[in-house]
Amino acid sequence: MSPHPALGLLVGFCALIGLLVGSFLNVVIYRVPRHESVVSPRSACPSCHVAIVAWDNVPVVSWLYLQGRCRSCRSPISARYPLVELATAALFAGAAARIGFDWALPAYLVLLAGLLALACTDFEHMVLPKRIVYPVLGLVGLLLLVAAAITGRWHDLLVAVISAIAWFVVFFALNAINPRYLGFGDVRLAPVLGLALGWLGVRYVLLGFFAANLVGAVVGIALIATKRMTRQQQIPYGVFLAIGAAIAIYAGPELLRPFQAY
Ligand SMILES: [Zn+2]
Repeated sequence: MSPHPALGLLVGFCALIGLLVGSFLNVVIYRVPRHESVVSPRSACPSCHVAIVAWDNVPVVSWLYLQGRCRSCRSPISARYPLVELATAALFAGAAARIGFDWALPAYLVLLAGLLALACTDFEHMVLPKRIVYPVLGLVGLLLLVAAAITGRWHDLLVAVISAIAWFVVFFALNAINPRYLGFGDVRLAPVLGLALGWLGVRYVLLGFFAANLVGAVVGIALIATKRMTRQQQIPYGVFLAIGAAIAIYAGPELLRPFQAY
């Protein structure tokens, strides 16, 4: 099947949207774990507290132009800001290239933006904030419902809902058995992943789950072997759940080809 003639436009458009969404994710990643509002006050320099004017807030470009420093006090601004913007743009462009002109594409853009924000808060603070997880769950559910209503893919929606419930139940049970190994943040995230991957098929749900645990195990063993982590330390499992879901979305069709019959 040859790609849609306007696919390049869609990919470029989604990359641009990704830069803007990434700029908002920076605010979310910084403020939500600190229990601050994401809408007010306006962004300010963390060192001198001078508000950042709009033209110094252009994704990536402003950071490069100001050479990674605040315009007022010249204190360094973390490279994380442009990196999150670029990562969001890349995730969005990749999703557009992968999924194409499909009514479900918006649901996956919301999912990927949410997972990037959650991976960052989990990595930095070991938390998967409800204020990120619940809106993402609601939006992904709503957007998939809209996609089902337009395209008549009600069977896919049913599989998605069943996958969401199943993944939630499995994680709920694991958390009940030993909350040290699986925090309740991961339990809340489970239905989000079940919903989004279930829409693609049960094989994608299983791939996302196994990829998350495989990557998590490999990284965990490497960190323990190189003494950068002790066996008692907790790993930010949410980071690996996000990576597993991304693997299923971006590499699923190739990885699952041998299992097409199922
Ligand atoms: Zn400053």
